[in-house]
Amino acid sequence: MNFNAPRGTHDLIEKDAENLRYLETLCRKIFEKWNYSEICFPTFEDAGLFTRSIGESTDIIEKEMYVFEDRKGRKLALRPEGTASTVRALLEHSLMQKMPAAKLFYMGPMFRYERPQAGRYREFYQAGAEYFGNSEPPADAEIIIAASEILKSAGLKKIDTRLNSLGCKACRPAFRQELKNYFSSKEGLCEDCSNRLEKNPLRVLDCKIDGPRFTDLPQMEKFLCPECKKHFDGVKELLEKSGCGYTVDHKLVRGLDYYTKTIFEIRGSAEGAQDALCAGGRYDNLVEELGGSPTPAVGFALGSERVIAAAQKENAVWNASRPLKVFVAVSGESLLKEAFVFAAGLRRSNLAEPVKLAICAGAPEICVEGPVASRSLKSQLKLADKFGADKTIIFGEDEYKRGAVVLRDMKTQEQKEIKIV
Ligand SMILES: [Zn+2]
Ligand SMILES: [Zn+2]
Repeated sequence: MNFNAPRGTHDLIEKDAENLRYLETLCRKIFEKWNYSEICFPTFEDAGLFTRSIGESTDIIEKEMYVFEDRKGRKLALRPEGTASTVRALLEHSLMQKMPAAKLFYMGPMFRYERPQAGRYREFYQAGAEYFGNSEPPADAEIIIAASEILKSAGLKKIDTRLNSLGCKACRPAFRQELKNYFSSKEGLCEDCSNRLEKNPLRVLDCKIDGPRFTDLPQMEKFLCPECKKHFDGVKELLEKSGCGYTVDHKLVRGLDYYTKTIFEIRGSAEGAQDALCAGGRYDNLVEELGGSPTPAVGFALGSERVIAAAQKENAVWNASRPLKVFVAVSGESLLKEAFVFAAGLRRSNLAEPVKLAICAGAPEICVEGPVASRSLKSQLKLADKFGADKTIIFGEDEYKRGAVVLRDMKTQEQKEIKIV
């Protein structure tokens, strides 16, 4: 019987796994520079948490969530995104009281039952950050700048930052009504949009079929109440003064219900870069809706696979620090134990200083393979090549009798004896 990875999932192997780790390390560094601390939350939660926060009439809840019952009949869901869990943890652990500024970041797999297509997976990786307790434009600007700094540091030369405001409880209803009126008079909306016009008319704006059809669409910016307008202007000003480019996109909406005021998306600028690499915005009502006291919040998440693919398209060079690779080989089986003990000592950095210096020459990280004595020395050296060894240490009986081994530099092919005892 043969098993394959479930449809829509993928294994990350070798370079792909390295790239994910590289990106996550990069994200971690930048988040920490902005004083965000890491939170790791469960991969599954009470399904109600997501329904409540993301919104019943969103695609995620209606079509894409992995919901299941456990053995005690609890209704659980694999996390489709990270914000709801972060808010849940914030409340559960009263983090607003404990932290001077509740600024959190997370990374890891998320799950959505989507139609598998290039670059879209049912289990995919995200990294994200959430900033709680600050209702002012600097928080929005901080989140947007941190997000774009990650993408730029990942080697994306040009990014396209789209900005919009969705207003608040006071000003959005009039815009929704205006959209409903506008679209009700239009013929031939796609099936999805005809269905969601009543419950979620904003989504028609970013429909791939209907969005581009109309040129005179109502714009939320014209409906913003004075407070929302002032906030939006404040965010724009901070971005401009910080040299963070953006364009206001009146059709930008998000597929989640909890957003208020600022929303944004960053796309790559490579041709055909339609999908957002990262997206986020402000959600000032969510903490309260999940049972907390009113707490303003703003955050974003990036799709790791998408960022990696975009960086590859732009030929970004990701130089993860590579350890010095050392292969330990044995000529004949008689010295296997000695070679094993030596290799273990090398990994644990347990050898005498002159020996370490001769082999590692001050390399900060080391990766050691071998010994594999059941093969001829020749085939062990082939293994060393496959492993990508920088240096190979050969245990031979004659040298060992003199308390020495052979150290071979794999690039220059140079060999010399070094004393190990
Ligand atoms: Zn408003
Ligand atoms: Zn549509």
